[in-house]
Amino acid sequence: MKCRFPLAAFALLLLCGCAKNTIRKPVERSAFLKDTHVRITVFDSAVPEDSVQAAIDRCIRSMEALEGLTTAHVDTSEIAKLNARAGKAAVAVKPEIYQLLQKTVDLSRETDGAFDITLGALKDLWGFDAENPRVPDPGAIRGLLNFTGSAQLVLRNGTAFIINPKTRLDLGGFGEGLLIDRGVRVLQDAGIQAGLVEASGELRAFGKKPGRKTWRIGVRHPRDPEGGLIGVIQIAEGGVSTSGDYERFFIDHGKRYCHILDPKTGVPASRCISVTIVAPDAWTADAYDTAVFVLGPEKGMALIERTPGMEGIIMTERDGRIQQFVSKGLKSKYKSFE
Ligand code: ADP
Ligand code: MG
Repeated sequence: MKCRFPLAAFALLLLCGCAKNTIRKPVERSAFLKDTHVRITVFDSAVPEDSVQAAIDRCIRSMEALEGLTTAHVDTSEIAKLNARAGKAAVAVKPEIYQLLQKTVDLSRETDGAFDITLGALKDLWGFDAENPRVPDPGAIRGLLNFTGSAQLVLRNGTAFIINPKTRLDLGGFGEGLLIDRGVRVLQDAGIQAGLVEASGELRAFGKKPGRKTWRIGVRHPRDPEGGLIGVIQIAEGGVSTSGDYERFFIDHGKRYCHILDPKTGVPASRCISVTIVAPDAWTADAYDTAVFVLGPEKGMALIERTPGMEGIIMTERDGRIQQFVSKGLKSKYKSFE
């Protein structure tokens, strides 16, 4: 079995073109949150550097606080509290978490259940967060499938209730995107005009990079062990997120199993090898890349095309060859190196 975890590697790499008109160097900082490697870059010549540094400090603290509310592994998080009360009682949750849960239920409906935050127990069964992920017993998978689906989560008047005691929520499908949007908001509130927040393959760019009209975002080649690029997207601003089967996976009897589960079967989705979504914000990009990955190329592209403000690239592999499907609005903004 072979397993790779992604913390050290960004799936998307910013291509740093040197801007002619840059007044001073960008201010850049990296931070490790509990589960996530974050990089913050500020391109702004109007705000003094010490104010930029203070804003980045606040940005990191705010992202940490939000991660503390949403990570299922931390006992004090809102999600851990909800999981602990599964089948027992409704829990009053903070308004921002309530709204977030509502958005996930909406997305689950929109994707006919492909996006599903109630898969926590199944994810644990596969062991994707553990040292040795493994193919579980099919009976155990079937058993847990009875306790998944957004109908398990009842949201009412600011409270959340998980109906079945075995059901566990897991917000991993959009964890980074959520933190990135929070980070961007803090930087913008501090008066910063242009910057970039990245975390493990997801990012959001805002404002204009000095001397450039667009941000050029590299898309990782899903089968390059060195993490090279397969193409570049140009965006004005917004979120870009990639889910790939190379991020967290293991190989068993020659078959690759990745960390994105098909809620209909309880088995890792395998029709896509990489999905990149461009959206106005990072949460949307991150949640939809997971959903589209599960839906597969046809239904996934239909979802991208019918969602306002969304574009995307879906990659599949057949007989060792990679096929790339690019949404209509992105064709003129995506350059493939293949
Ligand atoms: P990352 O890029 O951080 O690896 P992804 O956006 O690719 O994350 O989402 C994968 C994560 O989403 C899994 O690790 C798991 O926590 C969660 N997940 C897996 N399957 C689903 C699904 N069908 N719906 C929603 N979340 C899922
Ligand atoms: Mg995602």
